[in-house]
Amino acid sequence: MKMIRNILKTCGGVHQDLTRGIASLSALPESHQMLHKTCRDFADVELKPNAAKFDKEHLFPAEQIRQMGKIGLMSVCVPQKYDGAGLDCLAYAVALEEISRGCASCGGIMSLQNSLYFGSLLMSGSEKQIEKFVRPYVSGEKIGCFALSEPGNGSDAGAASTLATAKEDRWVLNGTKAWITSAFEASAAIVFATTNKDLKHKGISAFIVPRDSPGFSIGKKEDKLGIRGTSTCSLIFENCEISKENLLGQLGDGFKIAMKNLDTGRIGVASQALGIAQAALEVAVNYSNMRTSFGKKISKFQLIQQKIADMSLKVESARLLTWRAAWLKDNGMPYTKEAAMAKLAASETATFVSHQCIQILGAMGYVTEMPAERHYRDARITEIYEGTSEIQRLVIAGCVLKEMA
Ligand SMILES: Cc1cc2nc3c(=O)[nH]c(=O)nc-3n(C[C@H](O)[C@H](O)[C@H](O)COP(=O)(O)OP(=O)(O)OC[C@H]3O[C@@H](n4cnc5c(N)ncnc54)[C@H](O)[C@@H]3O)c2cc1C
Repeated sequence: MKMIRNILKTCGGVHQDLTRGIASLSALPESHQMLHKTCRDFADVELKPNAAKFDKEHLFPAEQIRQMGKIGLMSVCVPQKYDGAGLDCLAYAVALEEISRGCASCGGIMSLQNSLYFGSLLMSGSEKQIEKFVRPYVSGEKIGCFALSEPGNGSDAGAASTLATAKEDRWVLNGTKAWITSAFEASAAIVFATTNKDLKHKGISAFIVPRDSPGFSIGKKEDKLGIRGTSTCSLIFENCEISKENLLGQLGDGFKIAMKNLDTGRIGVASQALGIAQAALEVAVNYSNMRTSFGKKISKFQLIQQKIADMSLKVESARLLTWRAAWLKDNGMPYTKEAAMAKLAASETATFVSHQCIQILGAMGYVTEMPAERHYRDARITEIYEGTSEIQRLVIAGCVLKEMA
């Protein structure tokens, strides 16, 4: 398998079958269509056949993540000078959808590493921090995590109560972060903590915490509804000492760093949701073409066709919103509203499509023999993390009211 950056460089003519099944693909540059095909082939061979096992056994897909790292998927937008693939956000969205279509857990791990971990470091890190906490991670051999949520506050991230205190040449952290993706495997965490609670969100700063820091421990793995191949744990800081050099950006920049990277993160979650939705749509269409009832394929019934039409319409619409948000980012334009719209539309689409998929499969949709029930469980997280659907609506309304004032 080639590095994905080389595929973009060497792409030749568009293959006839590249756009089959995904009409909006023809709207992409040829290079991105080739990337799509590469990621789809990889997901069909390496991820799809293993996704049920990762889910059932709550297994971190270590080997698959290593392979994804080798071809550049764990560092899609990291510049080539730091050994990343150096591609744009549209490429990231296309690749992440295909990976998530094969395995939503792999998509979740990829999304977290690319958007939130690398995103924060590349946005605000010094050259020294990037050398230490980005370069060794691009291969997927090392994993990072992003710790904003706490047991007492998720949506209200500005109310962080994890405390950072300056002590000589060190920072001392005390508190607990909750629900942190990839925490179990992570070698380093971006941790948001307050140095002055009276300043509310303006008192929050971002810190890089290596796994082996004294006073840092990991809580138990949460037993989850979906994306069970990912770990989700608390991070516990008890007089955890880190070097003064591990402040990321300026003091008080933390909330800004978190919000800016969550905008990109939402394009990632939208792409993950699209992958789950596309997978569920394919399961439903294939089954409806095989299953016979009242002497006909069920795909001949108009009530089934209506479901397939609605599922397909929502997937295509959400995909265009997602690609628009990525395109705006790539072209240096504001994209906060568009990323929130993409995340909201795609996550609600994933829930709708996987729900309808189970309905089309009937009893076979309800058992683990078929992937429909897994898609349904995996879809649900995309409406919760990186801002719930309610928070996306607040972001969208806030932008619209400002634009139209
Ligand atoms: C599997 C998993 C992985 C996660 N990974 C990470 C991670 O890697 N890093 C990280 O920092 N966090 C992570 N999270 C946490 C996630 O981002 C939060 O759960 C999410 O932001 C919601 O916060 P909460 O659970 O505290 O819900 P709350 O904020 O308590 O919200 C509860 C309900 O109230 C609604 N609500 C809250 N405020 C408002 C409002 N102003 N108006 C209307 N409705 C409102 C919410 O939409 C929701 O429906 C993860 C969570 C899960 C389950």
